[in-house]
Amino acid sequence: MSKHLFNDVRVPIEEDNLSICRDESKCIKCGACKSVCKYSLSVYGYYKLEDTGDNAICIGCGQCSNVCPTRSITEKYDYLKVLEVLKSDKIKIFQTSPAIRVALGEEFEMDPGTNVEGKIVSVLRKIGADYVFDTTFGADLTVMEEVSELIDRINNEGILPMFTSCCPSWVKFIEIFYPEFIPNLSTCKSPILMQGSIIKNYFSKIKNINKENIITIAVTPCTSKKSEIKREEFNNDVDYVITTRELAQIIRKENIDFKNIEESSYDCIMGNSSGGGAIFGTSGGVMEASCRYVYKLLTGKDPDSKLLEFNEVRGLSNIKEAILNIEGKELKLAVINGTGDARKVLEKLKNKEVNYDFIEVMACEGGCIAGGGQPRVIFPISAEIKGKRSNGLYNIDKERKIRNCYQNKEIIDLYNNYLEKPFSEKAHKLLHTTYIDKSNILKKTVKN
Ligand code: SF4
Ligand code: SF4
Ligand code: SF4
Repeated sequence: MSKHLFNDVRVPIEEDNLSICRDESKCIKCGACKSVCKYSLSVYGYYKLEDTGDNAICIGCGQCSNVCPTRSITEKYDYLKVLEVLKSDKIKIFQTSPAIRVALGEEFEMDPGTNVEGKIVSVLRKIGADYVFDTTFGADLTVMEEVSELIDRINNEGILPMFTSCCPSWVKFIEIFYPEFIPNLSTCKSPILMQGSIIKNYFSKIKNINKENIITIAVTPCTSKKSEIKREEFNNDVDYVITTRELAQIIRKENIDFKNIEESSYDCIMGNSSGGGAIFGTSGGVMEASCRYVYKLLTGKDPDSKLLEFNEVRGLSNIKEAILNIEGKELKLAVINGTGDARKVLEKLKNKEVNYDFIEVMACEGGCIAGGGQPRVIFPISAEIKGKRSNGLYNIDKERKIRNCYQNKEIIDLYNNYLEKPFSEKAHKLLHTTYIDKSNILKKTVKN
């Protein structure tokens, strides 16, 4: 008999799941978690507990927590640990993901899409941060590396299509269900881990701080990143992840008047990004930001207005396709949100019914603006709310003086002073990773 009760109506969750947990006393067995996990993520129903040794399979996306009407499922909380660590004499360094700035305000009666990044920086300083960096910098760095990898694959007959790798739930989905596609995944680490690596290996040096004395904390919309940072290959470059909702809990616990707190700015040398870095938080954003740099690398020119507003890859449709035509060279692109739809495309790729050069996949429908750790004060998180959050990010992009990653002065300095050039040996060592075939967990037979 399974240790997972009611698994015909709801998702089974392991005790040691690092991303989510369930409060049994609140579960009304409504089945909403099962539906989203099955149809949107394509996880529930795609394995059998009898085959896995009664182990629940989970890619950590937290979408079940976003639809659970009673808040029985939540992210696994780490904010109390973070509050504790903030009392220590270590150097505490925060980084904040793009999507949290257009959603946290909802927890404090502001409209979805309101940009509260300056307030977030002030809050983090108030609770004890020594430095506050912006993960949009890590997003710019990701574009520099990922596009260089794509061009390298194109020029050297490497494996295509190349898949983005910044969504850890998507990476896990491939590792478990489609390991034959591991070579298609970009080797780039996700933005928070690129930034964590630069903090611990470079920032520590220029500031003359022993890296053992640094604690890095990422505030993200994402429950999956809680498990991602524990992957052995990431060397504790990010020590803690808290979600947007957890930051709201901290603000309330510390009695901070969020609505009226004065705004402040991020610290340099990782506090600035291009507009392209900001739109990473919405579906199609990684693709759009990448295409701007592809254009630059292939033509030597700055992208035109079409690429600064690449409408074919914007919006909430689950599968978006576009062709990027650059001076006669065509790149076939796809943007997918929801691993359920990614499964459909992977099956077609296997059967050679479609072909692409570059594919962006985000596990959450709408991308990180709808991540499993985002506010759910207005419930359910409708397409309208997702659209407003998304527009909030596009407005930030439009207002930024710099729209392209390669024009970000902090990025240029990082390559000049440390990494040498995109895709260099040093960049490879610090910013790229490898993946593991985990498909054996689908067929783990029960030991007698
Ligand atoms: S969505 Fe929440 S309340 Fe409904 S079955 Fe799942 S855990 Fe229980
Ligand atoms: S976190 Fe995602 S994969 Fe895991 S049970 Fe919930 S919906 Fe399914
Ligand atoms: S889409 Fe974004 S929020 Fe959702 S699992 Fe992926 S990285 Fe996390």
